[in-house]
Amino acid sequence: MLAQVAERWGIVDDTLPPRQKLLPLGTIARTYGDRLLVVGDAAGLVKPTTGGGIYYSILSGALAAEIGSDGLKHDRLDGASLAAYEHAWRDQLADEFDAQHPLRAVVSRLTDEDIDELFDLARTDGIMPIVRKTVRFNRHRDLIQALFRHAPARKLLFRSFAL
Ligand SMILES: Cc1cc2nc3c(=O)[nH]c(=O)nc-3n(C[C@H](O)[C@H](O)[C@H](O)COP(=O)(O)OP(=O)(O)OC[C@H]3O[C@@H](n4cnc5c(N)ncnc54)[C@H](O)[C@@H]3O)c2cc1C
Repeated sequence: MLAQVAERWGIVDDTLPPRQKLLPLGTIARTYGDRLLVVGDAAGLVKPTTGGGIYYSILSGALAAEIGSDGLKHDRLDGASLAAYEHAWRDQLADEFDAQHPLRAVVSRLTDEDIDELFDLARTDGIMPIVRKTVRFNRHRDLIQALFRHAPARKLLFRSFAL
């Protein structure tokens, strides 16, 4: 691929090793401290389903800005005061993490054959109406809960746990 795009992208040395970056799939234990607020990837605020973190970074950044500026205004930047930031993002995202982590746990155990079966199931067994009804780009909980409630999908997703 690099050989194909090298000229167009101005890559002089196409033998360079790729730059790698970890997806932080799990939040850190505490996202505030004295004079400290941790947002986005640094806080592990990334969707466990997709690894996407742009939305959560913007959301946590906005909350941090709101609570941080309030702290600055009242000169209260101690950890106890800034804890409001963590309450605020947990209010908005904790339910999402509680749903997305279990889905990731079951999906990462699926074999190629399981994935093919899941697509067959989606084509034939009424999963698409559930998807259309519940899917939201940045919030996956409703879809995950609906899938876990759908008996054939649940059976397939949890099959490896029954072995
Ligand atoms: C290959 C790839 C594809 C992705 N695709 C998607 C996608 O399609 N959708 C999606 O939602 N998410 C995607 N993500 C994840 C998304 O990019 C991150 O979750 C998001 O950018 C996190 O934003 P952030 O502001 O927390 O961190 P970053 O965007 O990493 O910003 C941190 C910034 O801090 C700077 N910095 C670091 N150390 C210092 C320092 N000591 N001093 C000053 N500055 C410093 C860095 O240079 C960087 O600019 C992808 C990630 C990768 C790696």
